Amino acid sequence: MRRKLVVGNWKMNGSRVANADLLAALKEASPWNADVAVCAPAPYLGEVALSLQGESIGWGAQDCSAHESGAYTGEVSAAMLAEFGCRFVIVGHSERRAYHAESDQLVADKAKVALKHNLTPIVCVGETLAEREAGQTDAVVKRQMSAVIHTLGHCISQVVVAYEPVWAIGTGRTASPEQAQAVHALLRTQLHAATSKSAEMQILYGGSVKPDNAGTLFKQPDIDGGLIGGASLKAADFVAICRAAN
Ligand code: PEP
Repeated sequence: MRRKLVVGNWKMNGSRVANADLLAALKEASPWNADVAVCAPAPYLGEVALSLQGESIGWGAQDCSAHESGAYTGEVSAAMLAEFGCRFVIVGHSERRAYHAESDQLVADKAKVALKHNLTPIVCVGETLAEREAGQTDAVVKRQMSAVIHTLGHCISQVVVAYEPVWAIGTGRTASPEQAQAVHALLRTQLHAATSKSAEMQILYGGSVKPDNAGTLFKQPDIDGGLIGGASLKAADFVAICRAAN
């Protein structure tokens, strides 16, 4: 039986005061019968780490460099994240693929360097609206996943996958539980061909998950929790989503 995982992606939001309030509310409401983590903007990671010390809530970053170290101004390495206890790192979020032209291979390289430093990459895949309407959903997510599978080999079993249809992110438009389940099942079949541990792997759904739709989504057989953007910034909403994963 896979344990559910709910991860908040704060994106480029927050402040020291707002983060402290949010974390205080989450700590107060925890623990849940599911794994929970928050992925904060890089400047706040140290404070988030301190605040969550000894708590049941994990934390992670929203990106890392594919390089080990060196002349890459502005980038944050996986080794730096690992040095102060980071557990998760999101790689291949559609906003990074779109605004920073991240290729499938770059995303795979980031996942590889994250694993090397004992971080758990949360690998995001998902189609745009145009791709869905053109009937390309399966081909797109398989292509994105395939780059990571080829780069990681059997270590693919150590990643968390997040299916995030681009058209559902921050739009208030959610994939129906059936639409999401269909893609999750497709991904699990693809992972099954690459690792004997596919049944143990967590595949999260992301895209306008809210308290009122989380329960139905999380009940689907291949949906193992959620990657939550907007709703992770509101303590009451995020807590309700974590409860829905119980
Ligand atoms: C995300 O950014 O990963 C996300 C799923 O955002 P939202 O929940 O706001 O759609």
